[in-house]
Amino acid sequence: MLSTSMSGTAGRETATALEWLPVPLLEWYHENARVLPWRSDPTPYHVWVSEIMLQQTRVAAVLGYYERFLEALPTVAELAACPEERLMKLWQGLGYYSRARNLQKAARQIVERHGGEFPTDYDNIRALAGVGDYTAGAIASIALGQAVPAVDGNVLRVVSRLTNDHRDVTRPETKAAVTEAIRKVLPVHAAGEFNQALMDLGATVCLPNGVPLCERCPAQRFCAAHREGHEMELPVKAPKPSRRVEERTVWLIFHERKVALRRRPKQGLLAGLWEYPNEPAGGGFERPISLTTEEVAAPPVPPIPGPVSFAAAGKHIFTHIEWRMKAYTVKAEGEELPPGWVWADKRELGERYPVPSAFQAFSHIVEENL
Ligand code: SF4
Repeated sequence: MLSTSMSGTAGRETATALEWLPVPLLEWYHENARVLPWRSDPTPYHVWVSEIMLQQTRVAAVLGYYERFLEALPTVAELAACPEERLMKLWQGLGYYSRARNLQKAARQIVERHGGEFPTDYDNIRALAGVGDYTAGAIASIALGQAVPAVDGNVLRVVSRLTNDHRDVTRPETKAAVTEAIRKVLPVHAAGEFNQALMDLGATVCLPNGVPLCERCPAQRFCAAHREGHEMELPVKAPKPSRRVEERTVWLIFHERKVALRRRPKQGLLAGLWEYPNEPAGGGFERPISLTTEEVAAPPVPPIPGPVSFAAAGKHIFTHIEWRMKAYTVKAEGEELPPGWVWADKRELGERYPVPSAFQAFSHIVEENL
């Protein structure tokens, strides 16, 4: 039971906090719902695409991508048939590219298993590639009106505060207990609204970083963490393992207003995307990005012959790795490239080859040279 491992509140009080939630939360939502494009026509396809884009990404960053994606690929069938490079281009800059690949894989599953019709049964939705409990719950409740919870990090935060629950929210058993507790109070005829209201409350009032805006919260009068003064201690999360830092040398190689690109391997980080050739700079690095005296005197040897000069430094943070990069421009003496590398002009770079935002720090240098 959710109440057995609470601290600071009796079990009955905890159960009551969630039981009291639906009416004031829905009233608050009717006044304060965020206006979001996928809410104006919440078909399963629209909700699905928006939820996948929103994983690990802020709403403001998703808005433009969502509109463009749906304009280019308005149906499951068109997504299933989209050429890979076009799909990657549509996703370029959003990051976590495996999400786009899974979207397409799932679209193909829908075509193969369900004749192109988005499944309406929770288990069939949950069985699609890249769809977890939260996304399946969001689609089933918001687009199909089914009474299923949709519990993500936002909801875990709100519920752990409401119920003054000090268990580690990164543990599956905590998430399972919260999901079951929500299932019990979910209003059967307004499950989609309730789930969206919880998401909005978490995003705009019971904030993830900084002090929650309890004075604006419809749950303030029965929120156990607020009453006990524990808002800032919750949710409890086990510390994440620290990121591995990799220092890399990036080569911006130009020849006749074209830049050299190579394709990343089909598996692993940024799989299948195009990149400026780069390589580990060697060593374990924890120092700030700056050129050493040796590098100034003798820059690293480029993979293509030609004059080399330091261009810029940049870093990119992935989930488990941080790249600290030093980029060098090379004015290639000839146009011969290693197998698998290509020359891309300005148009091809813009329309054909998806280069991940990990290299964004160098885009202005590339643009100036094309
Ligand atoms: Fe969060 Fe404060 Fe509302 Fe409690 S009262 S749910 S801590 S915003």
